[in-house]
Formats: sequence, structure tokens, C-alpha cells
Amino acid sequence: MLFSEIVGLDEIKQALIRSALSGKVAHAQLFAGSEGFGQLPLALAYAQYLNCTYKQPHDACGKCSSCLQFHKLIHPDLHFIFPTTTTKRVTHSEDVASFAFLPEWREFLFKNPYGSLAEWIDFLGVENKLCSITRNESRNIIKALSFKTFSAEYKIMLIWLPELMQTETANAILKVLEEPSPQTVFLLVTNARDKVLPTILSRTQVINVRPFSDEEIQQTLVKRFEIPLLQAQHAAFLAEGNLNEALKMVDNANAFHAEFFQQWMRYCFKANFEALVNLTEQFAEQGRERQRNFFLYSLKIIRESMLARFGGEALLRLPHDSLTFVRNFSRFLSEKNIEELIGLLNNSTYHIERNANPKMLFLNLSIQINRLLNKTLE
Ligand SMILES: [Zn+2]
Repeated sequence: MLFSEIVGLDEIKQALIRSALSGKVAHAQLFAGSEGFGQLPLALAYAQYLNCTYKQPHDACGKCSSCLQFHKLIHPDLHFIFPTTTTKRVTHSEDVASFAFLPEWREFLFKNPYGSLAEWIDFLGVENKLCSITRNESRNIIKALSFKTFSAEYKIMLIWLPELMQTETANAILKVLEEPSPQTVFLLVTNARDKVLPTILSRTQVINVRPFSDEEIQQTLVKRFEIPLLQAQHAAFLAEGNLNEALKMVDNANAFHAEFFQQWMRYCFKANFEALVNLTEQFAEQGRERQRNFFLYSLKIIRESMLARFGGEALLRLPHDSLTFVRNFSRFLSEKNIEELIGLLNNSTYHIERNANPKMLFLNLSIQINRLLNKTLE
């Protein structure tokens, strides 16, 4: 992966590049952020940069033989350790180890390097199973690092989600983590820094990865995932710095809910039941994921409307087309109804995730909202 494939985060990229060019590369680094931030892509780009034979001032060359192997994630000096478990294919716990899952891992990364642990578990087809970095892995790590590098400047040991490392595994690698063989670099990539064992944490140099800005998410969706601009704007607004969440929001067709929400509120307010029954049908036709996202969107809009009414307009981060609506809608919110409205929507999100009947839920909710919106005017 190239740095240029990651939108934004320029300050982190520059610091990484500076360290590589100066030759002062810490031998154990922890890329720390939350799920859906850029820590894994950054670590991959950094690994490629470290071993590029024609390093450019702002990125790897992308053309040398090292870069080509990194691009396919098949460089012999690039090692991966990640959470695993027994699957249909790997049935014995003694055989469970990252190298047994490399083809799946590469495919997972090619598909979306911002993917979550839950998606990785899904990808392995082992729903409801716990994955961990097993005891077997400490042996594999030590063995992989005992050989000389094949061709590269640095041997990279990339460990995804060290917070899922069993204590025994961690203890077994402490020594090699502290004093690895020369030119070995550990890149640990965590989604939960506070859950990494202190013995591991204290041996690493931490690189804090911030959330993506709305602008960065929007650009990534448009450039890398070819999502239409308006849809990308809405998803960026909802995702709060989590690119993976943003990608989920733009799940294929008509994923943005602005128009639907605006109609819904109008019909609720006017108690237009014929139109509401119609909307209920449309709502029920959506999949669970999209229904859930629609409620999350509604919650966001209501919070933004509250800001428009009680706070400063400067706080509004909405795409332009929704602003007018929010300004008008905010007049129907007050201390008489806002709390209950948010409670109702939270509740509905909870129930839709747990297989409630979408038609009954949506229609019921509409009736309640009608009552609440008219409260302000009483
Ligand atoms: Zn190169």
C-alpha cells in the first residue's frame, strides 16, 4: 500500500517518512486508533516505504521489485500475525495460526483495509466464535525472525490487534520484542490501546492515529470507492471519523436517507396516515442494516436540529441540501419533546437490530412522533 492511497493524515505520514529517511526506525511501534481509523493502512504503507529501494520524498516508488511484492502482500520479509480460530477448513486447534490463513487475510485486506474484527470473523465464516492470537503464534514469530532477511532492508513483523494476544503468547515474545535481531521492525496495530497488555505496551513506541475528518472520509469514498459525492457527504457526516462505518452507510443503492426522513417528518407532523402507511411499506422493504442506519441517521439529524435551535449554527456539519430542512425542522423541537423523541428512536434502533417487526415498529413510531411534534405548538 502507498501512503497516497490513504487520504489525509498527512502529519502522521510525514513523521513516519522522516523516521525512515533518517534511519532512526524504532524496532517496535504501536499504531493506535479506534476501529475504522487509518492505523492498519498506515502500517502497511510504512512497511512498504521502509523497504522501497527508490524511496521518494513523500512516498514509496511503487515500482521497484520490493514495492511490487508489498503491493501484493507477498514480500518474503513481510510477516503477519492476526487473530484466528478453528474454521471449517482448519479444524484442529494445534493448526490454528496466522500463516494458515494468509490467503484469506490478503483477500480481506484487498477488499477493505479498514475492516473491523467482526468483519474478519465474518470473512472466516466463523460467526459467534472468539478469535485470538494463539499460543502457537509465539513460536511462529520467533521462528520467522530467526532467519536473515531475504532481500529487504527491514524484516517486518506486523501484528494486527495485539489486544487479542493471549498472555502466554505475549510473555513468550517479550524478549524478542525488546531486543529483536538487527533490522527487524515490529509494527503492532491496535484498535484498543487500553486493552494491550502493559508488558507489550511499555516496549513499543506509540503512534496515535486520529479519527478521519469528514472531508477525508468524503474524499476516500469518492476517490477510492467511487461513491457519488452527495452520498459520500452524508456518510462522512454520520461516521464520526470511522471510515469503515462510512463504507457501511453507503451500502449500494439509495443509501442516503435525507429525503425519506424529510418526508417522514412532514407526514408525521400533519398526521397524514395514508402517506405514512405508504412510507411504512417502503421502510419494511429495506434490509435490517439499512433500517438501522436510517434510525441512526434520524437521531443525528434530530441532534443537529437541536443544535440549530439551542446552540450555535457554526456547529452544524450538514451537507448543504439538508441545512434548510434542519433549520425549519428545529422549530418543532423543544424541551417538551426532544428527550422523548430521542428515547423513542434509540429504542427503535435497539429493537430493529433484534428483529422486531419493521412495519409495526415504524407505524407505531410515526404515531408517537406525530404526538410529540405537535406538543411544541400547544
Ligand atoms: Zn519502491
